[in-house]
Amino acid sequence: MGLYRHDFNKESDKALKNENLQRALRFTTDRFRERRKAAIEAVDDWENLRSLAREIKKETISRLDKYLELLEENIVETGGLVHWAKDADEATKIIIEIALKGKVKSVVKSKSMATEEIELNHALDKAGIEAIETDLGEYIIQLAKETPSHIIAPAIHKSKEDISRLFSERLKVPYYTEPEDLTRIARDKLRQKFLMADMGVSGVNFAVAETGTIVIVENEGNARLTSTLPRIHLALMGIEKVIPRFEDLAVFLSILARSATGQKMSSYVSLITGPKRKGEKDGPEEFHLVVLDNGRSNILDSDETRESLYCIRCGACLNICPVYRKVGGHSYGWVYSGPIGAIISPQLLGFSKAPDLPFASSLCGACKDVCPVKIDIPKVLLELRKTVVEENMKLNRVGVSTLKSLGIKLWRLSMEYPWIYTHLLTVAFYAQKLWVRPKGNNMKLLPYPFSKWTRGRDLPVFAEKPFRKRWKEKRNRYGI
Ligand code: SF4
Repeated sequence: MGLYRHDFNKESDKALKNENLQRALRFTTDRFRERRKAAIEAVDDWENLRSLAREIKKETISRLDKYLELLEENIVETGGLVHWAKDADEATKIIIEIALKGKVKSVVKSKSMATEEIELNHALDKAGIEAIETDLGEYIIQLAKETPSHIIAPAIHKSKEDISRLFSERLKVPYYTEPEDLTRIARDKLRQKFLMADMGVSGVNFAVAETGTIVIVENEGNARLTSTLPRIHLALMGIEKVIPRFEDLAVFLSILARSATGQKMSSYVSLITGPKRKGEKDGPEEFHLVVLDNGRSNILDSDETRESLYCIRCGACLNICPVYRKVGGHSYGWVYSGPIGAIISPQLLGFSKAPDLPFASSLCGACKDVCPVKIDIPKVLLELRKTVVEENMKLNRVGVSTLKSLGIKLWRLSMEYPWIYTHLLTVAFYAQKLWVRPKGNNMKLLPYPFSKWTRGRDLPVFAEKPFRKRWKEKRNRYGI
């Protein structure tokens, strides 16, 4: 499993100073939000669809073992093979073994967050197998040797000029700036790769248990080529991607594209049931489905946070989140970013690797309002914050948690005894003198740990006379 290497505060500070990134984030997330709004306004029963989707997810996740077994049974019946991976290492091992057995030299990949999660490209590279991303955004990221910064728009942080420069440097082509030229170059390069590839690796949006069908939703057509041209098709999915019935698909297809890109339906929806049959001309000879746990069953255990697994990775919560819209995806340090990243990463990676993320939210609730499966992200965030604090206490960590707990005790005392509150305000008034800004309305940067507040927010100066005192004086003066 990929290591969490980032300090959220440090990375978001950097992101806030990057004007190019700020422009790119604003432009793309605004566009996604406007389109989503228009798309859902055109649907009469949007709220019903959301409720229905949530109910289906709730039912599936509560009986996941049953539906996964049924999925396996039906895939095997149609000639496919199902492999179970408990973690990232096991998943990459299975995939490399399949590739080596099939004498695979080159792999084409369509967009899949699960393959990013297990760092598949790195593993394939180590095994001497060439892996090429074929989704345009992922292709850009691969050329730049970066990681995705948005669930559905991996290169959201790159401007048109960044991409022109990248193509010209890495692909040795003239410096084109028109998007049509850039896409033409990528298409020409990728077409050759599709024709030569021995194996196609895709993700899975939904896997229908009752028919053994995997469903891939996309806009570029590259996933369809990935899953049909090479002689082996391998799909990787997290255990939560299964849905019980074929008819449930109608609900999820209705909400996914609208929430993600504001489309009624994505340009390509591929339904794949096993490899090509006897007598069929097209399609792969082998079909493998790798089902990945990688920490997901730990989430299943918790009544409070289980709904994190309802996510259909539409990205709507990222586009609306005031934190994500400012700091971008790389600040979150792993493949999943924004509100869903803030809840899923600590649970999959472990709290010791991502302790900052549950706090990377203003708890405004906008993510909950847009989520097509009504995940109560703020509630889960609070639950995870509680766990982080408890873990810190267990480890007897002295630091911010101890200071916080002291601060809260002091606050409680000052609320119980108003004279303590009044005295604290008087002390604060005299103590603040060193940090008052020249204009006198706000504080300058306070020393640690209070700098955590003043680094990004205003803190008004304490008045010489607290409100109660002034109120009392006024009452006396006017006899109120
Ligand atoms: S949490 Fe909800 S809004 Fe966010 S990506 Fe998942 S399904 Fe979409």
